[in-house]
Order: sequence, then structure tokens, then C-alpha cells
Amino acid sequence: MKQTKPNHLSNEEFRQRGHDVIDFVTRYMDEIESYPVLSPVEPGSVYNSLPKHPPQQGESMDSVLQDVEEKIIPALTHWQSPNFYAYFPSHASGPSILGDLLSSGFGVQGMLWSTSPACTELETVVLDWMVEIAGLPSHFHSRESGGGVIQDSASSACLCAVVAAREKAMHADNSLQLPDLTAYISEQTHSSGEKALKIAGFQECQIRKIQNDDQFRMRADKLAEMVAGDISDGKKPAFICATIGTTSSLAVDPVPRIANIANDNDIWLHIDAAHSGSAAVCPEFRYLFDGVERADSYCFNPHKWLLTNFDCDLFYVAEKSSLVNALTFSPEYLRNQASESGTVFDYSGWQISLGRRFRSLKLWFVIRHYGVEGLRAHIRSHVDMAQTFTAWVESDDEFELFQPTSLNLVCFRHKDGNEKSRMIIDKVNKSGKLFMTHTVLNGVFVMRFTIGAIRTEMRHLEQAWKEIKKAAKD
Ligand code: PLP
Repeated sequence: MKQTKPNHLSNEEFRQRGHDVIDFVTRYMDEIESYPVLSPVEPGSVYNSLPKHPPQQGESMDSVLQDVEEKIIPALTHWQSPNFYAYFPSHASGPSILGDLLSSGFGVQGMLWSTSPACTELETVVLDWMVEIAGLPSHFHSRESGGGVIQDSASSACLCAVVAAREKAMHADNSLQLPDLTAYISEQTHSSGEKALKIAGFQECQIRKIQNDDQFRMRADKLAEMVAGDISDGKKPAFICATIGTTSSLAVDPVPRIANIANDNDIWLHIDAAHSGSAAVCPEFRYLFDGVERADSYCFNPHKWLLTNFDCDLFYVAEKSSLVNALTFSPEYLRNQASESGTVFDYSGWQISLGRRFRSLKLWFVIRHYGVEGLRAHIRSHVDMAQTFTAWVESDDEFELFQPTSLNLVCFRHKDGNEKSRMIIDKVNKSGKLFMTHTVLNGVFVMRFTIGAIRTEMRHLEQAWKEIKKAAKD
């Protein structure tokens, strides 16, 4: 039987096709405002538009790109649109795309220092830079007791923090069993906190959801009561997750008070600043991060609000041994001199999976392209626009703020109540002219307006406000 040879692209074909794809993405960026922001397609539309069986013989790149144009783009929700105000930002900046492209081109696995020294060492460099850029505590620096690593997501970072906390508690007292441990999150902690605890083997009865105050911050007094009650019941409080910038309303938990409780009772304190953490590049917002210097671990996502493509979560620990002891495995097939010398970082021992992409390239490109001042200007422009939008809401007869605006998120509602607010969101989203989402806080349907897309300018904001006002009138 005749064998078909794999039809690899020659280097010259790759160059040409590469240019085609860059042109394609550039055209997508040029045209992005012409698409409905929230994809209007029905469930199953993409599935049904594509062949049920794979091609037996290879096809041309032209026909693949044509399908992307005709079948994929109409079913995209356009996160890069300047009219995207939903959930949280998810950036794809030019320098980051190019850095990511290089990472794909190199195709290295950075699981061990020796599997690609540059992958490990550049990651260490950008994480150390970020300690300086975001004013983080010096013990997060690689030359100190702790250090940082790039995770795919804040969810994975939280899982690693839970595993390290479990390791630390059970190492300190080896009579403890996992069911003896308790963990503390709040009603507003991102669901990834509870998910991480459950993956790590914590049962419902070991997880305490601490009440929030009227501004949706964890109540430190309730946390202290819970911890004291658990200790007197013979439990070992092992893990607290505090949030700087909750998902629903960007509320900031009282970290210094929570840190007192954590430090006094030897409890691992993890801080999740997935969305808000990028704001720490601006000195004027650092007051929101008070207490981070007393946390055991901390994470934030440049892939949300710091111009870097998904996935890029920066995860820091104050002291690396619990994390690395819990997650390092050295089977024979991975053993090598560099690892054994103890002089290098093998980042697979700082995360869940073994394999890891060369993610630091995209962040390095971003930092070098924009510079620290450019990063700050980017954050400030969104915070300023959020203030402008807030002023429009505050001076309006029909709408009211639900919470004081925190950074780039405006939480507001229609004065006629939940149904009216819901109807407005449905209408503006169906119009395709903008996309925003909601939350429910204390039974109130709250319209969330997140300003974070790279291309959003004042003219987009004015247009969005006009559409919201129009939807309220109809
Ligand atoms: N934590 C907070 C506060 C968030 O807002 C989010 C996402 O919205 C997450 C965690 C989850 O982030 P990731 O997708 O990186 O796991």
C-alpha cells in the first residue's frame, strides 16, 4: 500500500502562511468594532457547520482560514472589542501576541531548568522585575526566602497554595490527618477557592464560608470567632484565602486584620488579587495591597488587566519549601546534574502539571515594550474612565451606584429595581453594541461595567452610556 508522507510546511511555506495569519489577525483587529460584541449564534451552530468526520487527506491553509472567517469568527464573543465591559478584561496586546508566537515557535518544555535553561531563568527574571514594578514584598524575590512562578490561572495558584498549606500544617504536626484541618474563605471568595480545597481533599464540613460586611469584605471578627471555635474543638486551622478585588464587586478584604489572625495561629494566608493585582503597578493604588507582606502566598493575573495574553498568572510564596516539598517528584527519567546540584529552579515542582510553556516571553515582551510608565498609564486610563462613568451614573435620575467604584469596575443599577436592570442588560447585549454582565449582591441585581479592554476610548464609553440610557427608555 502506498504510504502518504506527512505534508510538513517547508520553512518558506511557513513564512508565507505566517504572514497570512498575521495579516488575518491584523484585519480582525481593524474590523473588531464591526462585530456584535456578544456572539448572537445559537447553541450547536459551529458544531453543525463543520464536517462530522476529519479529512483523510490534508487540506490547504487557505481553506482552513476561510472556515475561520466564515464559521469561527461569527461565533466568537469579542473580548478584544473596545465595547467589551463584561466579567473582567482578558488582554491580547501586540507585544504579548508576538512573545507568545515565539514561545509557540520554540516549542520548548520548561519543566526542568535543564529542559530549557532560558525558559526557567527568564521566568525568574520577569517575576523578580514584577516584585519591583508592583511594589511587592522583597521576600517574594528569587534571591530571598520565597520566589515566584507563572501558573496558567489564579485557580491553579490557589490549588498550589492549598497543597502547600496542607503540607506545612501536616509537616509541623505529623499526628494530624487531613480531616483535622479547616479552611476559611468568604461568601465572596471566587469559586476557585472552594474548588481548590475540594480538589485537595477538604470536605464541605472542613470549609468555613465567612460572612461579609455591607461592602462585601470578609468580616475579620467572624473569621477570628470561627478560628477560635475550631481550635477549641481540636481542629487545626490551616488555610485562609483573602481577596483583593472580589469578582462581583472588586471588594478588598481587610488583609492586615486577617493577617493578624493568620499569623497568630500559624495559618497559611493566601491572597487572591487575580483582577486587581495589576493596579499595584501604580504607587497610588498600593494602599489596597496593605498586608500582602504578611501573606504566605499571593497571586494576580497579568492575563486579565496587564496587557498579557491568557495564560499568565503570577504566583508568589514568602517561603518556598512547603510548596516545593509538596510538588516536587524526581523519577529516574527526569534526574539530571543541574537539578541534583540544588542550584537551579525546576518549576515543575512549583505547579500541578509537569509540562510548562515558555510563558515568560510574552510578559517580558510586554514589560520591555511598554516600560513601567507605560503599564501605569494603561491602568490609570481605565481607572479614570471608570471615574467618569461613575460620575454619569451618580448624576443620573434613573440609575444609581450600588457600591463606591473600585478601580475599573462600576457596579450600578436602575432605580426601578432588579427586573428593569436585567431587562436593560439583555437589551444592550442583544444590540451587539456592547457587552456587560451582572452579579447579585444581597438579593440586588447589579449591573457590572468593567472598563479594561485595551482599545476602549472615551468615545466608546460615551456610546455605551447612550445605549444603556436608550435601553432604559424603551
Ligand atoms: N479570583 C478572582 C478574584 C477572579 O476574579 C477570578 C476570575 O474572574 C479568578 C480568581 C479565576 O481566575 P482564573 O481564570 O485565572 O483561574
